[in-house]
Amino acid sequence: MRKNIVAGNWKMNKNVIEAQQLMFQLLEYKKKNTTNCEVWIAPPAMYLMMAKDVFSHNEIGVLAQDMSEYESGAYTGEISADMLESIHATGTLIGHSERRQYHGETDSHCNVKVKLALDKGLTPIYCNGETLEQRKSGQHLEVVKYQIEVALFTLTAEEIKKVVIAYEPVWAIGTGETASPEQAQEIHKHIRTLIADKYGKDIADEISILYGGSVKPDNAKEIFSQPDIDGGLIGGAALKVEDFAKIIEGFN
Ligand code: 13P
Repeated sequence: MRKNIVAGNWKMNKNVIEAQQLMFQLLEYKKKNTTNCEVWIAPPAMYLMMAKDVFSHNEIGVLAQDMSEYESGAYTGEISADMLESIHATGTLIGHSERRQYHGETDSHCNVKVKLALDKGLTPIYCNGETLEQRKSGQHLEVVKYQIEVALFTLTAEEIKKVVIAYEPVWAIGTGETASPEQAQEIHKHIRTLIADKYGKDIADEISILYGGSVKPDNAKEIFSQPDIDGGLIGGAALKVEDFAKIIEGFN
């Protein structure tokens, strides 16, 4: 059976003291509570080693927010798959809409990054989703199809099984506007069907597909109860332990 996952994307938030404090609060929470999902966090890159120290028994999985498309060399500011493997990171987000919007990342870049991550035994969390204009003009199913095909469909069946997909409609990110559970389910089912058509139903059924975009304590349970939604990628609500814990408990 596929995994349920709640992952917190901290984006560019928290200084070192605040980051450490939240990590210890999360560790405390994880020690005291049994959760019905895996819990992962994606802190800013400079706190990844600290996170690996705090969660030294893998209580919480540690993800990068992005990773270079190059293996090594003169790429100032970049982090390689090899570096992430060497600290035993769980994986990395790839293709977050903010990377696409502000850093020109495309589905073809994502394709290269997904392959590199898999080659190093890292779990790629491939983020995709349509903009408001694309949804308003009824293109959302086509857009998501294209994103999935370009970034993932060069993978083998064995490889794609190891990918986690995060559907994050751009219009729902940080806006307070959540896709309705039905809207999200429609796209998640669409993604799973695309994978089933290419790789077979058994493979498609093994892949965790997370929803992201204004998930909050009061809407998590309903979103997670949809048949093709296997968890969430949480932004703003992952920055406070109380809120993040309530979202995790959406699986209870
Ligand atoms: P918000 O939960 O703040 O809308 O962010 C979602 C997101 O982008 C997670 O990667």
